[in-house]
Amino acid sequence: MKHFSISVIAGDGIGPEVMREGLKVVEAAEKLHGGVRFSYESYGWGCDYYLKNGMMMPKDGLDQIRDSDVILFGAVGAPEVPDHVSVWELILPIRRTFQQYVNLRPVKLLKGLESPLRHKTHDDLDFLVVRENTEGEYSNIGGRLHEGTPYELAIQNNVFTKFGTKRILEYAYTLANKKQKKNMTIATKSNAINFAMPFWDEIAKEIAGHHPEIETNIYHIDALAAYFISKPEEFDIVVGSNLFGDILTDLGAAIVGGLGLAPSGNINPDFHYPSMFEPIHGSAPDIAGKGIANPIGQIWSVAMMMDHLGLTVLSELIIQSIEEVLQEGLVRTPDLGGYSSTVEVGEAIVHKFKHLSQFV
Ligand code: NAD
Ligand code: MN
Repeated sequence: MKHFSISVIAGDGIGPEVMREGLKVVEAAEKLHGGVRFSYESYGWGCDYYLKNGMMMPKDGLDQIRDSDVILFGAVGAPEVPDHVSVWELILPIRRTFQQYVNLRPVKLLKGLESPLRHKTHDDLDFLVVRENTEGEYSNIGGRLHEGTPYELAIQNNVFTKFGTKRILEYAYTLANKKQKKNMTIATKSNAINFAMPFWDEIAKEIAGHHPEIETNIYHIDALAAYFISKPEEFDIVVGSNLFGDILTDLGAAIVGGLGLAPSGNINPDFHYPSMFEPIHGSAPDIAGKGIANPIGQIWSVAMMMDHLGLTVLSELIIQSIEEVLQEGLVRTPDLGGYSSTVEVGEAIVHKFKHLSQFV
């Protein structure tokens, strides 16, 4: 029997609320498919932990989760803790230490939903964004000088290595071949960011040259953001640096129904370390505790986790269950214009999933 161990970090705010629904899907998957077993360990790290202990996770936190097969993450962030602390002391150390150098984010309009872009259909809105996840603009290198004076200044350095840039682009082309995609779009800004981005362009052209079977377009990030709205049907795979990829994927989430739906994978493609799956939204303090957060981003992240573990059938069944529940339109959380609770949507998806699994 296949066995997978999952480290669960639900985090803060709506994180634990959506995680509960995600884990119901994991449990249902295990019951239905006798051939696979999941065990999980939950870690109560995050802002509450920080307020008690002065750190986001224990000193040996990374060692505690290092040997698990995957990490399932909810969201972190609380009004009492500065965001740069919660991000730099929990999520980013996990991404970097475990060399999760790919941040993979599908931009896909699920059946049963309409895009805010008029006339754009499910066929038009179906692509993958590959974001570099370990370097670039998120450098932690820089400083502030002359604080409190009129000459105060801040410097933030960007770090782009040849190794890091090459491996993310190579991953994007490998993924294109695996998913039989024909079109690669690369985000840069070489007119203004005049050292780092021409460097990206050069490496991109070199790697594109090895893949003549795929059509490659290099666009400036500002123009590309506009194309996400005006011609999203042109894209199959979009690849960009850490910051560019982050911004593009929030935009991507918005054109397919909102932050509450969007999943992501922080992937170590070499399987040397665990990969981590999480919804792209944050802890949403404005709705935390009300029981109305949309659990679909978390549940779709579980589907991505299954796909990563080679459990493709389970992954596809989860996505189909989400789509059928949306198409029936009986339960929806308020962000999708409905009145249902997190639990009602989660349980409807689990119910659908159990029903559909009988037929495979
Ligand atoms: P956010 O994603 O938490 O919320 C943005 C808006 O989207 C809010 O109006 C929220 O109610 C809504 N929203 C988000 N997820 C939703 C869901 N599942 N269902 C329904 N509505 C949802 O972003 P923010 O407000 O900028 O940040 C809040 C906190 O989260 C901050 O502390 C921030 O640092 C943190 N954050 C964490 C992550 C992460 O854990 N990876 C990502 C982004 C933000
Ligand atoms: Mn973001």
